[in-house]
Amino acid sequence: MAIDVKAPALRALPGAPQPLIPGAMSGSKPYVATDKMQQALGFPGELGADWQSRALGKMGELLGKYRSLKVYLDACVHCGACADKCHYFIGTQDPLNMPVARQDLMRSVYRRHFTVAGKLFPKLVGARELTREVMDQWYSYFNQCSECRRCSVFCPYGIDTAEVTMAAKEIMDAAGLGQKYSNEIIGKVHRIGNNLGLPGPALADTLEGLAEDVKEETGADVRFPLDEKGAEVLLVTPSADFFAEPHVDSLIGYAKVFHAAGIRWTLSSHASEAGNFGLFIGNYEQLQKIALRIREAALELGVKRIVVGECGHAWRVAYSMWNTLAGIGAGGSDAFARQLQGQLDSRYRQPTHICELTWDLIERGALMLDREANDHRVVTFHDSCNVARGSRMGDTPGGQFEIPRNIIRAVANHYVEMRPGTTHDATFCCGGGGGLLTDELLDLRVKGALPRMEALREIADRKGVNFMATICAICKAQFTKVLPYYGFKMGMVGGVHQLVSTAIRLGAKH
Ligand code: SF4
Ligand code: SF4
Repeated sequence: MAIDVKAPALRALPGAPQPLIPGAMSGSKPYVATDKMQQALGFPGELGADWQSRALGKMGELLGKYRSLKVYLDACVHCGACADKCHYFIGTQDPLNMPVARQDLMRSVYRRHFTVAGKLFPKLVGARELTREVMDQWYSYFNQCSECRRCSVFCPYGIDTAEVTMAAKEIMDAAGLGQKYSNEIIGKVHRIGNNLGLPGPALADTLEGLAEDVKEETGADVRFPLDEKGAEVLLVTPSADFFAEPHVDSLIGYAKVFHAAGIRWTLSSHASEAGNFGLFIGNYEQLQKIALRIREAALELGVKRIVVGECGHAWRVAYSMWNTLAGIGAGGSDAFARQLQGQLDSRYRQPTHICELTWDLIERGALMLDREANDHRVVTFHDSCNVARGSRMGDTPGGQFEIPRNIIRAVANHYVEMRPGTTHDATFCCGGGGGLLTDELLDLRVKGALPRMEALREIADRKGVNFMATICAICKAQFTKVLPYYGFKMGMVGGVHQLVSTAIRLGAKH
């Protein structure tokens, strides 16, 4: 099906209010998961006769389980502070893409079915039945939220629209209306081990090829080990790193860092995916099932450390949730969790982000770096949402902002920041997060990228920026696709470890 994609014009004055276009994106919907994809995850195959009671039953269950959801649905005072903070609203001008309006799609149903006022006086409190029409509206507009949490930074009550979106997706899955892109990918992880469906032998071949390429480039025997028992480090990275451009350049960077530091590491064919789309569909069981593969691989290989590659939402899950999901680092009282905690080396953070590992080596003078090798680049940094607003790095607040920037400054001479209000905890989403990185949503993705593209245009014109570094596989894939719609070259996005790879010298100094 041909997709009609229209990039909005960059605004002369970023942030200037735009006219509203009601219904502009009402037809934007991702493909629906097939019954086979649904059933593979334990969800009903389709919206059957009892879909409404299943949806309301799941909603009641979530309201009982997650106190935050009930608080978010009760606490909003409609002050409007979040209204113009969403990149999808800015790019589409559709009022239902205002975070408060998106929440209201669920709030109205919550009021009708779960509050006394809504049951007695529905019109007075804006309560609505969960009809098929309402469900279709949910499917459209909750699939126009990348769960980036930018709006929550500006809400005086800290209401997190991403949590509401995740609950909506979980309710829709329980009713039999799942999203094809995310649910198909989760199924592949369960069956094969990674989002791309790349089987172990193909992965082994790919890694062998990379070792040959790096040998040709540097003369060094940089290894890309797979399933090596007794390695110190298990690297868990997004499967896009295995071959797609520019992702693979970061994988080469990690391998060079391990080589230069003399760290014995391995990848795992069982846990060949850092991404965890269970987060995007808000489903705890799927989140846990995917996370447990990493614990199983770590136990099987006997590693002492678990390091996570450049992937935004994977790092959020690893940093904030692996402890309770799988007992990695802490948490979990089952025998396997305790066994892993005894096995992992407590002198290190468990898990460790690859940027933490590299920055620690740089600070200790353990890497030889030639900054001039990146002199053809003027670099800026795009903070990825899930790293910026859902995790930390290092020992001090804000480490998730400073550590990647410190690495860039250590490996490149020319670094500039984009405009305040578009970086750090106020960063704009790339437009492709939250399970929306699928071709049928390209028009939404291009429009959602508008605020980031405006900030990039400004710094490219003023300072000659020609490289935007980021530490997220989804950001890299999304920008590669949408940059040309705004007149940029697709190759101007890449990883922080791509820059490290260019600058690192593989000599005698370890
Ligand atoms: S979480 Fe992000 S995408 Fe979702 S409504 Fe808020 S700003 Fe928009
Ligand atoms: S900023 Fe918070 S309280 Fe105000 S409208 Fe948005 S969600 Fe509601």
